[in-house]
Amino acid sequence: MEKLYSPSVIMNIQRRYGFRAAKSLGQNFLTDKNTIDHIIEYADIGENDLVIEIGPGMGVLTAAAADKAAFVVAVELDQRLIPILEDNLTHYNNIQLINADILKTDVNGIIKARRTDHSSVKIIGNLPYYITNPIIMKLLEDKADADSMTFMLQKEAAVRICAEPGAPDCGAVSAAVRFYCVPHIVMSVSREVFVPRPNVDSSVIRLDLTGEKAVAPLSEKMFFAVVRAGFGQRRKTLLNSLTGMSGFSKDDVGRILTAAGVNPARRAETLNIHEISEIADAAVDVLNTSTANI
Ligand code: SAM
Repeated sequence: MEKLYSPSVIMNIQRRYGFRAAKSLGQNFLTDKNTIDHIIEYADIGENDLVIEIGPGMGVLTAAAADKAAFVVAVELDQRLIPILEDNLTHYNNIQLINADILKTDVNGIIKARRTDHSSVKIIGNLPYYITNPIIMKLLEDKADADSMTFMLQKEAAVRICAEPGAPDCGAVSAAVRFYCVPHIVMSVSREVFVPRPNVDSSVIRLDLTGEKAVAPLSEKMFFAVVRAGFGQRRKTLLNSLTGMSGFSKDDVGRILTAAGVNPARRAETLNIHEISEIADAAVDVLNTSTANI
Protein backbone atom coordinates (compact mmCIF):
# COMPACT_ATOMS: atom_id res chain seq x y z
CA MET A 1 0.00 0.00 0.00
CA GLU A 2 1.21 3.53 -0.77
CA LYS A 3 2.56 5.53 2.17
CA LEU A 4 -0.40 7.89 2.51
CA TYR A 5 1.57 10.18 4.80
CA SER A 6 4.27 10.82 2.20
CA PRO A 7 3.99 14.34 0.70
CA SER A 8 4.95 12.99 -2.74
CA VAL A 9 2.20 10.34 -2.53
CA ILE A 10 -0.33 13.03 -1.54
CA MET A 11 0.81 15.25 -4.46
CA ASN A 12 0.50 12.27 -6.83
CA ILE A 13 -3.01 11.46 -5.63
CA GLN A 14 -3.99 15.12 -6.07
CA ARG A 15 -2.65 15.07 -9.64
CA ARG A 16 -4.23 11.71 -10.51
CA TYR A 17 -7.70 12.71 -9.29
CA GLY A 18 -7.47 16.41 -10.20
CA PHE A 19 -8.05 17.15 -6.50
CA ARG A 20 -7.26 20.52 -4.91
CA ALA A 21 -7.40 20.86 -1.13
CA ALA A 22 -10.26 23.14 -0.01
CA LYS A 23 -9.21 25.63 2.62
CA SER A 24 -12.90 26.21 3.43
CA LEU A 25 -13.14 22.57 4.58
CA GLY A 26 -10.02 22.76 6.73
CA GLN A 27 -8.15 20.31 4.49
CA ASN A 28 -4.59 19.99 5.77
CA PHE A 29 -3.31 16.46 5.28
CA LEU A 30 -1.00 14.88 7.82
CA THR A 31 2.43 13.83 6.52
CA ASP A 32 4.24 12.53 9.58
CA LYS A 33 4.23 8.86 10.50
CA ASN A 34 5.40 9.58 14.02
CA THR A 35 2.45 11.91 14.70
CA ILE A 36 0.00 9.37 13.24
CA ASP A 37 1.43 6.61 15.45
CA HIS A 38 1.17 8.83 18.52
CA ILE A 39 -2.47 9.78 17.85
CA ILE A 40 -3.36 6.10 17.50
CA GLU A 41 -1.39 5.29 20.66
CA TYR A 42 -3.10 8.04 22.71
CA ALA A 43 -6.48 6.86 21.43
CA ASP A 44 -5.59 3.49 22.96
CA ILE A 45 -7.32 1.43 20.28
CA GLY A 46 -7.74 -2.26 21.06
CA GLU A 47 -8.52 -5.18 18.75
CA ASN A 48 -12.20 -5.31 19.76
CA ASP A 49 -12.75 -1.57 19.51
CA LEU A 50 -15.03 0.42 17.30
CA VAL A 51 -13.46 3.65 16.01
CA ILE A 52 -15.41 6.59 14.63
CA GLU A 53 -13.18 8.90 12.62
CA ILE A 54 -14.17 12.47 11.76
CA GLY A 55 -12.75 13.84 8.50
CA PRO A 56 -10.62 10.96 7.11
CA GLY A 57 -9.30 13.06 4.23
CA MET A 58 -7.19 10.64 2.17
CA GLY A 59 -7.30 7.93 4.83
CA VAL A 60 -3.97 8.21 6.60
CA LEU A 61 -5.40 7.90 10.15
CA THR A 62 -8.19 5.63 8.95
CA ALA A 63 -5.71 3.00 7.77
CA ALA A 64 -3.66 3.26 10.96
CA ALA A 65 -6.82 2.89 13.09
CA ALA A 66 -8.10 -0.03 10.98
CA ASP A 67 -4.79 -1.85 11.56
CA LYS A 68 -5.59 -1.87 15.31
CA ALA A 69 -9.39 -1.81 15.64
CA ALA A 70 -12.18 -4.29 14.96
CA PHE A 71 -14.03 -1.75 12.84
CA VAL A 72 -13.70 1.88 11.72
CA VAL A 73 -16.51 4.16 10.56
CA ALA A 74 -15.13 7.29 8.87
CA VAL A 75 -17.37 10.31 8.22
CA GLU A 76 -16.15 12.61 5.43
CA LEU A 77 -18.05 15.64 4.13
CA ASP A 78 -16.16 16.19 0.87
CA GLN A 79 -17.67 13.98 -1.80
CA ARG A 80 -14.52 14.35 -3.96
CA LEU A 81 -12.54 12.42 -1.34
CA ILE A 82 -14.79 9.34 -1.35
CA PRO A 83 -13.34 7.67 -4.51
CA ILE A 84 -9.84 8.52 -3.28
CA LEU A 85 -10.59 6.94 0.11
CA GLU A 86 -12.15 3.88 -1.54
CA ASP A 87 -9.02 3.35 -3.65
CA ASN A 88 -6.56 4.08 -0.85
CA LEU A 89 -8.34 1.78 1.61
CA THR A 90 -9.33 -0.98 -0.80
CA HIS A 91 -7.31 -3.63 1.09
CA TYR A 92 -9.34 -3.17 4.28
CA ASN A 93 -12.57 -5.01 4.97
CA ASN A 94 -13.18 -3.38 8.35
CA ILE A 95 -13.86 0.21 7.24
CA GLN A 96 -17.17 1.92 6.43
CA LEU A 97 -17.06 5.31 4.71
CA ILE A 98 -19.95 7.70 5.21
CA ASN A 99 -20.20 10.79 3.00
CA ALA A 100 -21.85 13.23 5.42
CA ASP A 101 -21.48 16.31 7.57
CA ILE A 102 -20.45 15.16 11.05
CA LEU A 103 -22.56 17.97 12.53
CA LYS A 104 -25.66 16.34 11.02
CA THR A 105 -24.66 12.74 11.72
CA ASP A 106 -26.36 10.52 14.28
CA VAL A 107 -23.15 9.30 15.92
CA ASN A 108 -24.99 7.26 18.56
CA GLY A 109 -26.96 5.59 15.75
CA ILE A 110 -23.66 4.49 14.15
CA ILE A 111 -22.35 3.27 17.50
CA LYS A 112 -25.53 1.31 18.20
CA ALA A 113 -25.39 -0.33 14.77
CA ARG A 114 -21.72 -1.25 14.87
CA ARG A 115 -20.55 -1.89 18.42
CA THR A 116 -20.31 -5.42 19.78
CA ASP A 117 -20.50 -6.56 23.40
CA HIS A 118 -16.71 -6.42 23.62
CA SER A 119 -16.11 -3.05 21.98
CA SER A 120 -14.96 0.12 23.57
CA VAL A 121 -15.74 3.07 21.33
CA LYS A 122 -13.04 5.60 20.46
CA ILE A 123 -13.75 8.75 18.45
CA ILE A 124 -10.72 10.19 16.66
CA GLY A 125 -9.90 12.83 14.08
CA ASN A 126 -7.60 15.44 12.73
CA LEU A 127 -10.44 17.92 12.94
CA PRO A 128 -11.33 20.55 10.35
CA TYR A 129 -10.26 23.61 12.35
CA TYR A 130 -13.13 25.84 11.26
CA ILE A 131 -15.66 23.76 13.23
CA THR A 132 -13.64 22.31 16.10
CA ASN A 133 -15.86 23.75 18.86
CA PRO A 134 -19.19 22.86 17.19
CA ILE A 135 -18.00 19.26 16.64
CA ILE A 136 -16.90 18.84 20.25
CA MET A 137 -20.04 20.54 21.60
CA LYS A 138 -22.28 18.37 19.42
CA LEU A 139 -20.63 15.14 20.59
CA LEU A 140 -20.87 16.22 24.22
CA GLU A 141 -24.44 17.48 24.05
CA ASP A 142 -25.55 14.38 22.11
CA LYS A 143 -23.88 12.35 24.89
CA ALA A 144 -21.90 10.34 22.35
CA ASP A 145 -21.73 6.84 23.78
CA ALA A 146 -17.93 6.62 23.52
CA ASP A 147 -15.09 6.00 25.96
CA SER A 148 -12.81 8.72 24.67
CA MET A 149 -12.25 11.29 21.96
CA THR A 150 -8.74 11.94 20.66
CA PHE A 151 -8.49 14.95 18.37
CA MET A 152 -5.87 17.03 16.66
CA LEU A 153 -6.81 20.70 16.58
CA GLN A 154 -5.36 24.17 16.47
CA LYS A 155 -3.05 24.74 19.44
CA GLU A 156 -4.91 27.81 20.77
CA ALA A 157 -8.24 25.98 20.53
CA ALA A 158 -6.78 23.06 22.47
CA VAL A 159 -5.68 25.39 25.28
CA ARG A 160 -9.14 27.00 25.43
CA ILE A 161 -11.01 23.70 25.32
CA CYS A 162 -8.89 22.15 28.06
CA ALA A 163 -8.73 25.31 30.24
CA GLU A 164 -10.01 25.00 33.80
CA PRO A 165 -12.85 27.55 34.21
CA GLY A 166 -11.27 30.40 36.14
CA ALA A 167 -8.10 30.24 33.98
CA PRO A 168 -7.52 33.15 31.56
CA ASP A 169 -8.33 31.13 28.39
CA CYS A 170 -11.57 29.59 29.64
CA GLY A 171 -14.90 29.97 27.90
CA ALA A 172 -18.26 28.26 27.57
CA VAL A 173 -16.66 25.31 25.77
CA SER A 174 -14.15 24.77 28.61
CA ALA A 175 -17.01 24.60 31.12
CA ALA A 176 -18.93 22.15 28.92
CA VAL A 177 -15.84 19.97 28.45
CA ARG A 178 -15.15 19.91 32.19
CA PHE A 179 -18.78 19.07 32.83
CA TYR A 180 -18.77 15.99 30.62
CA CYS A 181 -15.21 14.69 30.66
CA VAL A 182 -11.64 14.89 31.80
CA PRO A 183 -9.52 16.72 29.18
CA HIS A 184 -5.78 16.36 28.56
CA ILE A 185 -3.46 18.01 26.05
CA VAL A 186 -1.21 15.10 25.11
CA MET A 187 1.02 16.34 22.31
CA SER A 188 2.15 19.39 20.32
CA VAL A 189 2.41 19.13 16.54
CA SER A 190 4.32 21.51 14.27
CA ARG A 191 2.59 23.17 11.30
CA GLU A 192 5.42 21.76 9.17
CA VAL A 193 3.92 18.24 9.05
CA PHE A 194 0.85 19.09 6.95
CA VAL A 195 0.17 19.52 3.24
CA PRO A 196 -0.86 22.23 2.58
CA ARG A 197 0.91 23.87 5.54
CA PRO A 198 -1.53 25.73 7.86
CA ASN A 199 -0.64 29.06 9.50
CA VAL A 200 -0.89 27.65 13.01
CA ASP A 201 0.60 24.86 15.10
CA SER A 202 -1.55 22.04 16.43
CA SER A 203 -2.08 19.97 19.56
CA VAL A 204 -3.55 16.57 20.20
CA ILE A 205 -6.10 16.39 23.00
CA ARG A 206 -7.78 13.44 24.63
CA LEU A 207 -11.16 13.76 26.30
CA ASP A 208 -11.98 10.86 28.62
CA LEU A 209 -15.70 10.36 28.89
CA THR A 210 -15.78 7.54 31.40
CA GLY A 211 -14.03 9.18 34.36
CA GLU A 212 -15.77 10.66 37.36
CA LYS A 213 -17.52 13.97 36.58
CA ALA A 214 -16.07 17.07 38.25
CA VAL A 215 -19.52 18.28 39.37
CA ALA A 216 -23.04 16.92 39.74
CA PRO A 217 -25.45 19.90 39.62
CA LEU A 218 -29.12 19.41 40.49
CA SER A 219 -30.07 20.41 36.94
CA GLU A 220 -27.83 20.01 33.89
CA LYS A 221 -30.12 22.40 32.02
CA MET A 222 -29.64 25.11 34.66
CA PHE A 223 -25.85 24.54 34.70
CA PHE A 224 -25.72 25.29 30.97
CA ALA A 225 -28.14 28.21 31.31
CA VAL A 226 -25.64 29.78 33.77
CA VAL A 227 -22.71 28.98 31.43
CA ARG A 228 -24.45 30.46 28.37
CA ALA A 229 -25.63 33.62 30.17
CA GLY A 230 -22.33 34.18 32.01
CA PHE A 231 -19.94 33.54 29.12
CA GLY A 232 -22.29 35.09 26.54
CA GLN A 233 -21.60 38.46 28.17
CA ARG A 234 -18.29 37.71 29.80
CA ARG A 235 -17.28 41.38 30.32
CA LYS A 236 -20.33 42.05 32.48
CA THR A 237 -20.57 41.38 36.21
CA LEU A 238 -22.43 38.21 37.13
CA LEU A 239 -25.24 40.29 38.59
CA ASN A 240 -25.81 41.81 35.14
CA SER A 241 -24.93 38.88 32.87
CA LEU A 242 -27.19 36.45 34.73
CA THR A 243 -30.12 38.86 35.02
CA GLY A 244 -32.70 37.91 32.46
CA MET A 245 -31.37 34.34 32.32
CA SER A 246 -34.35 32.00 32.38
CA GLY A 247 -36.60 34.88 33.48
CA PHE A 248 -34.72 35.72 36.69
CA SER A 249 -34.95 39.32 37.94
CA LYS A 250 -31.92 41.22 39.27
CA ASP A 251 -33.20 40.56 42.82
CA ASP A 252 -33.44 36.83 42.06
CA VAL A 253 -29.85 36.83 40.75
CA GLY A 254 -28.68 38.72 43.85
CA ARG A 255 -30.28 36.05 46.05
CA ILE A 256 -28.83 33.24 43.94
CA LEU A 257 -25.30 34.61 44.11
CA THR A 258 -25.55 35.27 47.85
CA ALA A 259 -26.78 31.71 48.43
CA ALA A 260 -23.91 30.36 46.31
CA GLY A 261 -21.39 32.50 48.22
CA VAL A 262 -20.25 34.28 45.04
CA ASN A 263 -19.57 38.03 44.89
CA PRO A 264 -22.06 39.55 42.36
CA ALA A 265 -19.33 41.91 41.05
CA ARG A 266 -17.29 38.98 39.69
CA ARG A 267 -17.37 37.95 36.02
CA ALA A 268 -18.13 34.47 34.66
CA GLU A 269 -14.57 33.94 33.43
CA THR A 270 -13.32 34.04 37.05
CA LEU A 271 -15.58 31.18 38.17
CA ASN A 272 -14.36 27.66 38.62
CA ILE A 273 -16.62 24.78 37.68
CA HIS A 274 -17.69 24.13 41.29
CA GLU A 275 -18.85 27.72 41.67
CA ILE A 276 -20.81 27.48 38.40
CA SER A 277 -22.47 24.36 39.77
CA GLU A 278 -23.28 26.06 43.09
CA ILE A 279 -24.83 29.03 41.29
CA ALA A 280 -26.92 26.63 39.20
CA ASP A 281 -28.10 24.78 42.30
CA ALA A 282 -28.99 28.06 44.05
CA ALA A 283 -30.88 29.09 40.90
CA VAL A 284 -32.89 25.86 41.03
CA ASP A 285 -33.77 26.60 44.68
CA VAL A 286 -34.88 30.14 43.81
CA LEU A 287 -36.79 28.81 40.81
CA ASN A 288 -38.71 26.45 43.07
CA THR A 289 -39.89 29.41 45.14
CA SER A 290 -40.58 31.86 42.30
CA THR A 291 -42.31 32.10 38.94
CA ALA A 292 -39.16 32.19 36.75
CA ASN A 293 -38.92 29.51 34.06
CA ILE A 294 -36.11 27.56 32.41
N1 SAM B 1 -7.63 12.92 8.48
C1 SAM B 1 -6.95 13.54 7.37
C2 SAM B 1 -5.50 13.73 7.71
O1 SAM B 1 -5.18 13.73 8.91
O2 SAM B 1 -4.68 13.89 6.81
C3 SAM B 1 -7.59 14.87 6.97
C4 SAM B 1 -7.74 15.88 8.08
S1 SAM B 1 -8.26 17.47 7.52
C5 SAM B 1 -7.54 18.51 8.79
C6 SAM B 1 -9.98 17.57 7.96
C7 SAM B 1 -10.92 16.68 7.15
O3 SAM B 1 -12.27 16.90 7.61
C8 SAM B 1 -10.95 16.95 5.65
O4 SAM B 1 -10.87 15.74 4.97
C9 SAM B 1 -12.31 17.63 5.41
O5 SAM B 1 -12.83 17.41 4.12
C10 SAM B 1 -13.14 16.96 6.49
N2 SAM B 1 -14.33 17.75 6.90
C11 SAM B 1 -14.50 19.09 6.88
N3 SAM B 1 -15.71 19.44 7.36
C12 SAM B 1 -16.33 18.27 7.70
C13 SAM B 1 -17.60 17.97 8.27
N4 SAM B 1 -18.47 18.93 8.58
N5 SAM B 1 -17.92 16.66 8.46
C14 SAM B 1 -17.03 15.67 8.15
N6 SAM B 1 -15.80 15.91 7.62
C15 SAM B 1 -15.45 17.19 7.41
